[in-house]
Amino acid sequence: MTTIAARLKTVRERIAHACTDAGRDVNEVTLLAVSKTFGPDAVREAHAAGALSFGENYIQEAVEKQALLAGLPLEWHCIGPIQSNKTRLVATHFAWAQTVDRLKIAQRLSEQRPPQLPPLNVCLQVNIDGGANKSGVAPGEALALGRAILALPQLRLRGLMSIPEPTEDFAAQRTLHQRARELYEDLRAAGLPLDTLSMGMTDDLEAAIHAGSTMVRVGTAIFGSRAKPVTSA
Ligand SMILES: *Cc1c(COP(=O)(O)O)cnc(C)c1O
Repeated sequence: MTTIAARLKTVRERIAHACTDAGRDVNEVTLLAVSKTFGPDAVREAHAAGALSFGENYIQEAVEKQALLAGLPLEWHCIGPIQSNKTRLVATHFAWAQTVDRLKIAQRLSEQRPPQLPPLNVCLQVNIDGGANKSGVAPGEALALGRAILALPQLRLRGLMSIPEPTEDFAAQRTLHQRARELYEDLRAAGLPLDTLSMGMTDDLEAAIHAGSTMVRVGTAIFGSRAKPVTSA
C-alpha cells in the first residue's frame, strides 16, 4: 500500500469511529481530500485508493493540476477565497464552490457557469465565530444570501461551510461546530433546501462529526504536511 493509501485508510477509520461514537451512519459523511500544494501524482494516488472528491484553495494551481488529470472522474471543490477576477475559472473548472459569502460573487458564478454543465453546487461560507478579519457571511445574513442564491439559475445551493478558529480542546471544537449545525438547522427550517454541512479538518474532524458534519475536508492526514504556505489565490 502506498503512504497516501495507508493514510487514507486511517482517515476513513477515524471517520467511521467518530460516526459510531456519535451514533451516526458512516454514509452520512463525505470525505473531501484537500490536495492543495500537492501535485497531480498525489491526487492520482489518492484516487487509486478510492478518493473521488478533491478540494483546492488556490484556483490557478487547481486549474493547472486538473489539466494534468483530465480523464480521471474527479469531483473538484473550490474551498479557497474567490475574488471577482477568478469567478470564471471557478464556474468553468469546479463542481462545487464552498466559499461563497457575497451575492456579487454568486451572481458572477451563475452568469459564467457554462450552460452545458450542471448547475454549480454552492455552499455559503459562514463566519461562525465572528473573527473580524475572517471570510464568511455573518450568521444573521446567511438566510437572505441563501434566498438570493436560490434565484440564480446556474447555481444549486447545497449547504454551509465553516472554518472555525483552531483549538486543540475537543469540547471547544464541538461547541463551535454545534453553532454551525444550529444555523444549518435554522436555515433548513426557514425553507432553504440544504443537505451539506462542510466542517471538520485533520485536527477536528471527530468534533465536527459529533456536531453533525456531512463533509469533512482533510488535507494533512492524507497527503502529509504542506511544505510551503502558498499565499496567493
Ligand atoms: C487546507 C484546508 C483544509 C485541510 O486542512 P488540514 O488541516 O490539512 O486537514 C480544509 N479546509 C480548508 C478550507 C482548507 O483551506
